[in-house]
Amino acid sequence: MVGEDIFTADFKTDPLWWDDVPRPRPPAPPLPSRVDVVVVGSGYAGLNCALVVTRAGRSTLVLEAAEPGYGASTRLAGFIGRFLHYSFGKLTKRFGLQRAVRMFKESGDAHWLLLELIEREQMEVGKLYRGRFTAAHSPQAYEALARNAEEINRHVPFDFAMCPRSEQHREIGTDYYHGGMILHEHGTLQPAKYHQGLLDAVARAGVGIAAMTPVTRITRQADGFAVLTERGTVQARDVVIATNGYANTQPTTPWIRRRIIPIPAYQIATEPLSAALMKQIKPGGRAVIDSKVNIYWDRPSPDDARLIFGARTGDKADDLRVMARRLRELMVEVYPQLSETRLSHVWQGMMGFSFDRLPHIGRTRDGVYYATGFCGSGLPLGTYFGQKIGHRVLDDSQAETAFWNLGFPTWPFYNGNPWFLRPVMAWHDRSDRRGRPGIARAG
Ligand SMILES: Cc1cc2nc3c(=O)[nH]c(=O)nc-3n(C[C@H](O)[C@H](O)[C@H](O)COP(=O)(O)OP(=O)(O)OC[C@H]3O[C@@H](n4cnc5c(N)ncnc54)[C@H](O)[C@@H]3O)c2cc1C
Repeated sequence: MVGEDIFTADFKTDPLWWDDVPRPRPPAPPLPSRVDVVVVGSGYAGLNCALVVTRAGRSTLVLEAAEPGYGASTRLAGFIGRFLHYSFGKLTKRFGLQRAVRMFKESGDAHWLLLELIEREQMEVGKLYRGRFTAAHSPQAYEALARNAEEINRHVPFDFAMCPRSEQHREIGTDYYHGGMILHEHGTLQPAKYHQGLLDAVARAGVGIAAMTPVTRITRQADGFAVLTERGTVQARDVVIATNGYANTQPTTPWIRRRIIPIPAYQIATEPLSAALMKQIKPGGRAVIDSKVNIYWDRPSPDDARLIFGARTGDKADDLRVMARRLRELMVEVYPQLSETRLSHVWQGMMGFSFDRLPHIGRTRDGVYYATGFCGSGLPLGTYFGQKIGHRVLDDSQAETAFWNLGFPTWPFYNGNPWFLRPVMAWHDRSDRRGRPGIARAG
């Protein structure tokens, strides 16, 4: 019996992914005094931007406050696919049909671009193309998922199949859900391996990365910018901010900080399960996201040995072990078969949400570029908008996107401290429990 002792002897409060890809501790050589482009942040968005501009001949420096990939890009769940936190109807209402179709198509482009990049740069990412099961948390949510998918399919080809509750045991070993939607194009990868693949690609291209170098201020000058860091100042013609959910950790760009809601998210990994138990809970081997606003998600590890489970996004955790216990209770609620299973890892990362739940790419009044607000979907979207912002800096034909300068909303008096997060999450929890459809996302 597991009892109180729910942790393995080697239990860690770091991402499972770091077991295979330990965090690099690079040396900190002196900073160059001038480069063409400074990129702030070394996640998927920053590195993809750096790759594009460097390959076009610009001298580039990535400035990172901690170790390369310290942010969400080595901590996430690793789900890939089309993501937009908008029902197609709402997107159409806000932007009109034509632009909504373009935006939705681009969410697919982001997915295919990511896969192309992985292939072109010959990255080893432990990819699994087994599709995704979007699990409905209520009968109404099931109907809403189907309606949204059919609506999308009328305008953009969308590869989905509905799976009613009576058949869901083919996909998922639980009665917790009310059927769901299978997305065949979706999958999962090992996110830290993808990040390492990017680090290798930028190193081959000749990008400089200055780790442990927090940017403290950016000031406009006649011929570009002075980028002040804790290790000196770098002059740059162009500056790109790619700090997403970590934007408020440094006082660099108040304008962006006022538009990003940093949201903590948590995951646990189980000890290795027997093949029979894994088959019981995941007969289809697919990753699962549910249809709540406060979502639960899970996936098998790349070697199919462990279950990774996430929930309680937005909650506060002073002690990650306490959070691990809470997540485990939810995991067992969904999969009672895991009541005797121990945990080997718990970890946390920051998502960067925008107030309108859309990704944002643009340029501030001062002329600083940004790609941010990926709302928990930055694996494809950070890759895509990182590249797009690189093309904007180059001012070339590949820069075009329907997401350019959408208008980046904030709230009066908001300064980057999301004091409202817990009451808002509690409100969503209540609505989720009542079975309200939540967001009929297309991913
Ligand atoms: C638990 C969790 C699960 C997730 N699951 C998924 C998923 O399955 N699929 C998906 O698509 N997305 C997922 N996401 C979201 C995804 O991880 C992010 O959207 C993506 O990694 C963002 O990449 P980025 O490059 O924009 O930022 P990040 O990778 O967060 O990098 C930002 C970097 O900026 C640095 N920085 C901040 N301020 C400064 C400064 N002043 N000076 C220098 N450096 C600075 C930070 O140290 C950090 O390293 C998840 C996120 C979390 C937390």
